[in-house]
Amino acid sequence: MKRIIIILLFLIFSYVSFAQDIRIGLFHQHALKTVLISTVFGQYQLWGDSQLVKTINPNEIIYLNQIGDKIQIKEDTKDLGSYQKIELLGKGSFNTIRLKADNPQLKPREYQDDFYLEVIAGKIRIINQLDLEHYVAAVVESEGGSKAGKEYYKTQAILCRTYALENYHKHEADGFNLCDDVHCQAFKGRAKFSDLIVEATSMTKGLVIVDSSLSLITASFYSNSGGYTAASEHVWQQSRSYLRSVEDPYSIGGNSYLWTKSVPLSSWVSYLKQNGFKISPNINGSDFNDSSLRRKKYYVFGSDSIAYTALRNQFKLKSTLFTISYADGQIVLNGRGYGHGVGLSQEGAMQMDKKGFSYKDIIKFYYQNVYIVSLKALQY
Ligand SMILES: [Zn+2]
Repeated sequence: MKRIIIILLFLIFSYVSFAQDIRIGLFHQHALKTVLISTVFGQYQLWGDSQLVKTINPNEIIYLNQIGDKIQIKEDTKDLGSYQKIELLGKGSFNTIRLKADNPQLKPREYQDDFYLEVIAGKIRIINQLDLEHYVAAVVESEGGSKAGKEYYKTQAILCRTYALENYHKHEADGFNLCDDVHCQAFKGRAKFSDLIVEATSMTKGLVIVDSSLSLITASFYSNSGGYTAASEHVWQQSRSYLRSVEDPYSIGGNSYLWTKSVPLSSWVSYLKQNGFKISPNINGSDFNDSSLRRKKYYVFGSDSIAYTALRNQFKLKSTLFTISYADGQIVLNGRGYGHGVGLSQEGAMQMDKKGFSYKDIIKFYYQNVYIVSLKALQY
């Protein structure tokens, strides 16, 4: 048994030793044709097809234009040549660039570390290869807002790091690890609005969450549980031992705790009928009344049922946790929570932080039988 654990620890260490840097596909959903670059901190060298083209000085702006299958480098009106592969490598400290897409026009953002550009399928593909910890801090800023406390930010940093490593090969076919939009995790460049986020991230450096078999967990989160989290198999196909339904008093009263939605009785009945429900033409709206509020996989009426997730999609509901009543020709859904409900509730975690709980308490409350391990420490 001991030997198996040592082998598993070694496997985790090997996995992560590759992952100190991470490669992110920037502006993945945009067809970039022109990009402007300038240096914010540090010093950058610009390489084209393995030749040093120039060192970028402060206050210089470099234009990169897609022309055919190459990228033309321009400085003011001076043409510095066209290349298949461009590398932008940080050679100073705190290397950071400002990057602005000009075609299409997008807001400028600041990014850290190194960049690799080439034309793929008629558009400029930009890969940002950066320190995993820089990435995690930036994602915490994008996903976690700027008004929370330190234990919450530590929690979110561990979640985002675990997610990044668990999904390390998600975009392998595209030539990078993760994209920068919500398909993976929202990444909008350098964390710069909150020192607390940068500090909380560095205080959890290298920490990730594993389950009892030492596998990285699916560190899912959402806005508010509505008072009960959902078991993974109620929302997705897979059952995960650490994603159970728990009663969550900390989400009660949060900003996204309550919602209401009215659906015309005719729409409600017609959708259920489309899904095979046998409903009498003389049905009364109040026959649908249901005051129970608990997490379940299926909505049941008579002898028919449909997944709550299908109802959520169809009627664009904030969650799958709601009671049903009837008034004035409308089915009234009184709901709790916002999001899929599996794993950590962000508003609940913020409340736990305010009440004095640590990041360990918060993680172990929302994920069952998990361990927070330092991958770095496993080396020794
Ligand atoms: Zn993605």
